[in-house]
Amino acid sequence: MKAATAVIYRSALTHNYKTIKSMSPKSHLMAVVKANGYGHGALEVASTLTHADYLGVARIDEAIALREAGVEAKILLLEGFVSEECVPSLLKYNLETVIHCHEQVMMLEKFNSATSIKIWLKLDTGMHRLGIRLDEADAIFERICNISWIEKPINVMTHFACSDELNNPFTNDQIDRFDGFIQHKVVGQTSLAASGGILFWPQSHRHLNRAGIILYGISPVLQKPASDFGLSPVMQLESRLIAIRRHSQGESVGYNATWVSPRDTVIGVVAIGYGDGYSRSIKNGTPVLINGREVPLVGRVSMDMITIDLGPDALDKVGDKVVLWGQDLPIERIAHLNNLSPYELMTQLTSRVNLVYAD
Ligand SMILES: *Cc1c(COP(=O)(O)O)cnc(C)c1O
Repeated sequence: MKAATAVIYRSALTHNYKTIKSMSPKSHLMAVVKANGYGHGALEVASTLTHADYLGVARIDEAIALREAGVEAKILLLEGFVSEECVPSLLKYNLETVIHCHEQVMMLEKFNSATSIKIWLKLDTGMHRLGIRLDEADAIFERICNISWIEKPINVMTHFACSDELNNPFTNDQIDRFDGFIQHKVVGQTSLAASGGILFWPQSHRHLNRAGIILYGISPVLQKPASDFGLSPVMQLESRLIAIRRHSQGESVGYNATWVSPRDTVIGVVAIGYGDGYSRSIKNGTPVLINGREVPLVGRVSMDMITIDLGPDALDKVGDKVVLWGQDLPIERIAHLNNLSPYELMTQLTSRVNLVYAD
């Protein structure tokens, strides 16, 4: 049996999908499963959400892996494709792609096909990462319209930079720019909202909403836990106590002796560390759950272990389960305490962590 385990609750995933769908019943909902389903297992997430309107991945390899495992849902490549050799694969694997730069348009112009593909033109309305600048977008739109084997009308999307900042007018500016672009054009479907847009900017809900982090039951705004929106954490990260040690007042624990005990106590050693993806930036005092109570992490996170202060009267035993985050210990709280992002905490779990699928 592996020590560090991420238990994935499929019922929470299905529940979250339904709950998010009900926030915008007329929109289609994409389940974003890039980065191995935010660490939850992309294939397992896809095969749990068999009725998802869409799946979203970043890279073509992620999409091909899903197709080769038998996934038949619509799949959109959110980063598009990078080279000409990818174009036949779009057709072969029946993938939709984002077009965010003129190099991609050139590759499509050079190619020809009897079957058409569906593309999504990505506009840069303010994120300034991927997307066609608005002052070039009309020309690119024209060029794509002239490619015979691209399905018409063309679908248009954008991505928000600040949708997790509830009082920042930037998102409304982005929506206005988007609407300005499509106003006098015949366009197909439109897509603006990811998790932040879905929760906080209902005016951004269009044909297709793209749910990533909220699908996994995590809020993009740490001060507003996902439970406020009826969402449940899908993952519980847990491991076990592998040692229980008497520890005297004034003794330190772990590398660089960063923590010194103010009292006689009992230290528990837990089999999880940064080699599993439990970040080395997680600090002294961060809570973990054991036998129904919260106790603090003490000392440095090591590669394979952490140490926790069980308290002087501890009755815990070697082998007892320790929860690092999950339903009863929201990852938002762990992230907030340590000035980390729950996105990063989730996706950096390593292959040493055993993924177990419950219900
Ligand atoms: C990753 C990604 C999403 C999902 O983002 P969340 O904040 O996790 O919901 C949506 N759209 C695009 C283009 C993305 O790259």
